[in-house]
Amino acid sequence: MRKEVLVTVALAKRKAEQGVDYSSRFGAVCPECGRTKMRVYHTWPWRKGVRVRDHKCDNPECLVCVLGLTIKSTQRDSEAVSA
Ligand SMILES: [Zn+2]
Repeated sequence: MRKEVLVTVALAKRKAEQGVDYSSRFGAVCPECGRTKMRVYHTWPWRKGVRVRDHKCDNPECLVCVLGLTIKSTQRDSEAVSA
């Protein structure tokens, strides 16, 4: 594999690992291709005002999808945090 390809793959993996914020309007947005409302793969229970979801991008042209990476989104409930 060419070095540029490896770098691109590494960057996509890093973006996926860093995760994204969950928006009630757009859901989780893919950090690679920008697709909104990525399919939810697993939803974790609320914990200290934070809910984490695992997503998979289903855009066949997106590297995150091609590599089968899971993207974590974080949703914060501000009321629960301040309570
Ligand atoms: Zn994507």
